[in-house]
Amino acid sequence: MPAKYHIHTQPMPPRHKPIGKYGIVDWREDCSACHNCVKRECAYDVYDKERDRLVNALQYVDYLYECKGCLCCVQSCTKGLLTWETNPEYLKLGDEVWTPDIISSTWFQAETGRIPVSGAGYPGPFCGPGFDSILTDMSEIVRPTRDGIHGREYINTQVDIGRKLTALAFNPEGKLALKSPPIVDIPIPAIFGLLPWHKTSPQLLTAILDAAGKLGTYAFVDDSSLFVHDAAIPYVSGEFVPLEARLAVWPDSPDVVRRIEKAKSTNPEMIAIVSLCLNQNAVSRSLELAKAGIDVIHLLADWHGMTVNSDKPKHITHAVREVHLAFVEQGNRDEITIIAGGGIALAEHMAKTIICGADLVSVDVPLMVALECRICKNCQQGLPCPIEIEDVEHDYAVQRVVNLVGAWHNQLLEMMGAMGIREVRRLRGEVGRAMFFDDLERECFEPIFGKRKEL
Ligand code: SF4
Ligand code: SF4
Ligand code: SF4
Repeated sequence: MPAKYHIHTQPMPPRHKPIGKYGIVDWREDCSACHNCVKRECAYDVYDKERDRLVNALQYVDYLYECKGCLCCVQSCTKGLLTWETNPEYLKLGDEVWTPDIISSTWFQAETGRIPVSGAGYPGPFCGPGFDSILTDMSEIVRPTRDGIHGREYINTQVDIGRKLTALAFNPEGKLALKSPPIVDIPIPAIFGLLPWHKTSPQLLTAILDAAGKLGTYAFVDDSSLFVHDAAIPYVSGEFVPLEARLAVWPDSPDVVRRIEKAKSTNPEMIAIVSLCLNQNAVSRSLELAKAGIDVIHLLADWHGMTVNSDKPKHITHAVREVHLAFVEQGNRDEITIIAGGGIALAEHMAKTIICGADLVSVDVPLMVALECRICKNCQQGLPCPIEIEDVEHDYAVQRVVNLVGAWHNQLLEMMGAMGIREVRRLRGEVGRAMFFDDLERECFEPIFGKRKEL
């Protein structure tokens, strides 16, 4: 049995003080200095871990980065000195899609490489818009051998990128009569996409490429000086031909097929990807490109995970499912690879996008958040970046990205183990392992309560 693919994570502390979610208002002047202070009892060692910072804190309000809000210390302080508050600065992070909780959880994963847990349990609703309208079926969670991370059974997260043969043919001597098209396999169903709004410096891009290389995956790169990097997927414009590249990506255009044919005439082993905006023409255009011989289609939603240039924008999961089903209908889904990107913020989003029909995903904004980006959008307005992202130190950036992907990989293993699936290629389009809230509501609740009124 081959060795399990394992991502080596190691703690990489943040460069800037993280903005914590919960604040403990600590009225220290009345403290009785109890022998067995409740702060020592914190199950998550929050006070201990943050001791250095708390000693130097000048304010009474200490926002604890890792506090899980279990309220034990608040309830047990003999003098009732500790009060739990939500940090107002925390609530200002990100926006309605890139929520403060997503940003904070990404920081935690990039720092520790661990799966985030919540000591206070899950307090939220059981459905919501976008990815939150899909529930995964974890009914196999009781089988310990399939415990994704530590279980005895091997769970494979490797995917192939490239065109595949749909049938084999043999010559009279019994030898394979067809030449297999070039194919690349990667150990995780994710590559790194272009960062959507930020003009990155070569050193930042180099760190992202080095992290991709360390993980055994690839990254789109639009800086031609980095096209030679082993993990680079050159983002090609004009008539440029990436001679050395195993994979290359072209933005969709009317003559993209001609340009790819020309490039392949000099580099026949190259796998060509066409990146197209996920809009209302995505289904017809994808079928057209596949028919013209394109190996891989990259479907790119906007950075909030919605279709672009559309009167009625759809979520990426719905739009990807339409493209996937159109190929299934034609009987040639297995021929091509579909990469989907845009708005993928959490490990569960990766799994849900694959369930909806993608072979793998492209990840972009989370890479910046791993480097402590707060999605403040200052850089879009030409204002200074509060975390000076361009100046990140190389080893720090590589390890933070590796840690994040390590945590995502473990979560994918956990999900697949709980779903009873041992092969991520089998998860593609496996909607039997998901429940769509809209369907549940229509089938279960509508007959009893009637149709939900649109607000
Ligand atoms: S339990 Fe409360 S009063 Fe006692 S030492 Fe801790 S914070 Fe101070
Ligand atoms: S609320 Fe719970 S997790 Fe937070 S510091 Fe107190 S004991 Fe620790
Ligand atoms: S933290 Fe920096 S990189 Fe992130 S959005 Fe703000 S200015 Fe841009």
